[in-house]
Amino acid sequence: MFYNAIKRMWQWVRARKPIFIENSRVPVLLSYVSPININAISFGLCVWSRSTMDERVRRHETIHFQQQIELLFVFQWLLYVIFWLINVVKYRDGAVAYYENPFEREAYANDEDKNYLINRPFWGWQEYIKDET
Ligand SMILES: [Zn+2]
Repeated sequence: MFYNAIKRMWQWVRARKPIFIENSRVPVLLSYVSPININAISFGLCVWSRSTMDERVRRHETIHFQQQIELLFVFQWLLYVIFWLINVVKYRDGAVAYYENPFEREAYANDEDKNYLINRPFWGWQEYIKDET
């Protein structure tokens, strides 16, 4: 019974959507200090977009939202930066380092899949860590 209550609570948490903020200056300003031109960014409870968001963008950013929930937000931010730094050393290119980040690889690989947000495995990004051997 206790296990079922936890499970139901978790399903409720997972079904949450971030707060979508469109036509925002936030991605525009962040793009000045970023290796890529940011269209939309998911951080904490919100997603900021420089224009309007289509379904694919909303799904992509909601995948990031779920990644953050599953890592209690702060650990996702830390891991995101660590993966990016490792990739910068590895690829010597900020933009490539961004695209090869396992959090981004998971989001880009699945943002066209309408069922991904409900079928997504717990810590699904782990499957996108590159195995070099
Ligand atoms: Zn992304």
